[in-house]
Amino acid sequence: MKLSTPLSSIKGVGPKTEEALMGAGLKTIEDALVYLPRRYDDFSEVVSIVDLKPGNVVVRARCESVSTRPVRRGMRITTAVLADATSKVKAVWFNQPYRETQLKSGKEFLFSGQFVFQYNRYQLQNPSVEQFEESDAAPQASSSKIVPVYRHIKGIKPKTVQDLFNQLRVFMEFIPETLPDWIVQGQGLVGRAEAIRFLHFPDSSSQVDRGRERLAFEEIFEMILAAQLNKQDHAKLTGWQIPFDQPTVKSFVESLPFNLTNAQRRAAWQILQDLESPHPMNRLLQGDVGSGKTAVAGLIARQVAQAGLQTAVMAPTEILATQHAETLSRLLEPFGVNVALLSGSVKSRPRQEILSRLVSGDIDVIVGTHALIQRGVEYHKLGFVVIDEQHRFGVKQRQALLEKSQFMPHLLSMTATPIPRSLALTLYGELDVSVLDELPAGRQPIETKIWSPTSASKLYESIDKEISGGRQAYVICSLIDENPDNDRKSVEAEYRRLKSTIFYGRKIGLLHGKLKADEKDAVMRQFAAGDIDILVSTTVVEVGVNVPNATVMLIENADHFGLSQLHQLRGRVGRGEHKSYCHLMMSGNDKPSNRLREIESSQDGFYLAEVDLKLRGPGEIYGRAQHGALNLQIATLADVKLITRAQEAAEEFIKKQEDLVQYKHLARAVSRYQRLTTLN
Ligand code: ADP
Ligand code: MG
Repeated sequence: MKLSTPLSSIKGVGPKTEEALMGAGLKTIEDALVYLPRRYDDFSEVVSIVDLKPGNVVVRARCESVSTRPVRRGMRITTAVLADATSKVKAVWFNQPYRETQLKSGKEFLFSGQFVFQYNRYQLQNPSVEQFEESDAAPQASSSKIVPVYRHIKGIKPKTVQDLFNQLRVFMEFIPETLPDWIVQGQGLVGRAEAIRFLHFPDSSSQVDRGRERLAFEEIFEMILAAQLNKQDHAKLTGWQIPFDQPTVKSFVESLPFNLTNAQRRAAWQILQDLESPHPMNRLLQGDVGSGKTAVAGLIARQVAQAGLQTAVMAPTEILATQHAETLSRLLEPFGVNVALLSGSVKSRPRQEILSRLVSGDIDVIVGTHALIQRGVEYHKLGFVVIDEQHRFGVKQRQALLEKSQFMPHLLSMTATPIPRSLALTLYGELDVSVLDELPAGRQPIETKIWSPTSASKLYESIDKEISGGRQAYVICSLIDENPDNDRKSVEAEYRRLKSTIFYGRKIGLLHGKLKADEKDAVMRQFAAGDIDILVSTTVVEVGVNVPNATVMLIENADHFGLSQLHQLRGRVGRGEHKSYCHLMMSGNDKPSNRLREIESSQDGFYLAEVDLKLRGPGEIYGRAQHGALNLQIATLADVKLITRAQEAAEEFIKKQEDLVQYKHLARAVSRYQRLTTLN
């Protein structure tokens, strides 16, 4: 028997069990070995009630009696008497009335919580309750008190799963090592086989920790190594060498109506140095909303045009593309740099004209959406590509670029979504990073407040006052149409409601992704011109939209959004001279979560992204498309220490010029990550 032997060859695995195991993706012995427990029950900590001492405790007991009573307004206490073979103890829960039903089942439970002296007696306070299952303990509970609990496999009893693992125990030692020895030794990790054995058959909780540490390290290491190798590959390509021309840059900077911040200067300088290299740049420019990324991109485009090369600026939406085209024209046309917009609404003859000016080199800077790199769009000499608010520029796009240019253009991705250091090292490790960590002087903080529906009328009054003062407001709803399955507000319904009742007589606009491009454009233009007082919109206004006279951002069902997204939306206001407000309306009248409270007290996008990452995971911040890459089994991207260690090891791996061919498993994992980003 080998690791690749089908599980059906194991004693006790009949056709039915085999089918059920297949359903969970377990075909071979190896599949089963890497199917790790979901959690562990630590029976080593279970104490008899008679031996209880103050502090954190676990007891295994049945409930003798239970009741719930109100004590004061809004507060209910559930009290139970728990008993094991040695004694009895009282337990209390505050505002958890469902405990009563749960405990009345007469089953045996594990109670884990604080044993404290209160109200003249000892009691268990707010313990967690978990049903104790005989199968959890069997069969190796006799030898070990830490018992693995596996995710339920449909069609198989937990006992059968345990039996299966007991039989597989002998195969553990055949699990091959996947990392180089010098890494395992140097990092003080346990071997892969040992780690997996620890996780299936732990003798202590520290073995579980050691096993997890090893496998988590491996996951992160693979990810970082993939990114570093990508970076190496990209750096091997030939790029356009663009010498720094001081008079060109200087005259551009002097033409700006403001002084660049130090952060803008530093970022521009880093980019200009990259352009001088014979290899293409692949850099991320991150800066909070309003930090002035566009001015930096404009400066670089000026230098690129001076060298006789073209710039393409890609925005995620037509609205943003239009705005960028306007801004860049204003900044660049005085220098004779030709800027053009290629949007979806530019059709037939005008479109043909732009395309032919592009291929002849008459257009220096072209702005548009992703359509800019599609077939049929050809360039004279494309030297620089700016990707705004797109979190990633993957395989296909880069390939498309190479087809359009003699050399790989220099790439600059710009994002206002702050990327925590841990993500920058792992997922974005292939990019060089410049950070605008400074806002232009004189920006006022945006007053942020959480509201519940009961106080809505007060909120509407304050918004009305702003509008009377000549300002404008955004109202953001997450849905487009009303949806009976969903109690969140929709733009359609909210638009009608505000128009006919609360803000009757005000000019209300409606914006969402299902409108046609020219309709969207028209609404945005009206809003920017001040012809609309209140814009009811979905999150399409999220990124980059700039209307300085808008001072109010009201977000409905705010509790449904990630903090980073709320912060982005908030960045739509506070862009002019007037004081601005962000109102977060909750779905119900419950107390706001601590998470939502964070955004009330912080204007720091970096900090909020870190909180998001910890509480909701990276997918919430960086979108569904990247979920595949973030599908970590064991590691968490919030573990900065582990990530730093893995990064050092990856750098050493590359420095040593280790040959991936020697490490088959590692090579496979790395190429899986690489496929998301590389050229082949
Ligand atoms: P971002 O894209 O980073 O959110 P923008 O480039 O749209 O920011 O800039 C936001 C606003 O700040 C624009 O109106 C821009 O003209 C202005 N701005 C940019 N840099 C500066 C600066 N150094 N000083 C003052 N205002 C600036
Ligand atoms: Mg921007």
